[in-house]
Amino acid sequence: MAMYNRGLKDSYIEMGVEYVEIVGDAECGGICLDYVDGEPIRIADAEINVELPPYHPNCACSFVAWEETEVVENPEE
Ligand SMILES: [Zn+2]
Repeated sequence: MAMYNRGLKDSYIEMGVEYVEIVGDAECGGICLDYVDGEPIRIADAEINVELPPYHPNCACSFVAWEETEVVENPEE
């Protein structure tokens, strides 16, 4: 999974994606849910195994391109 996510990170950077958000996998048993908060993570600053999954052996979490429109719930704030 680590190799997969590393390639995924490179692909997003090549695509011009600046931010990603974590997608948790239920098989991780909740260990990773602390990371799944919908907060955008700046991919250029993010390290695999630290900010980006996998967070532990056999971690099945991944990440997707973050879209700004998905999280703007209170534009007046
Ligand atoms: Zn996980």
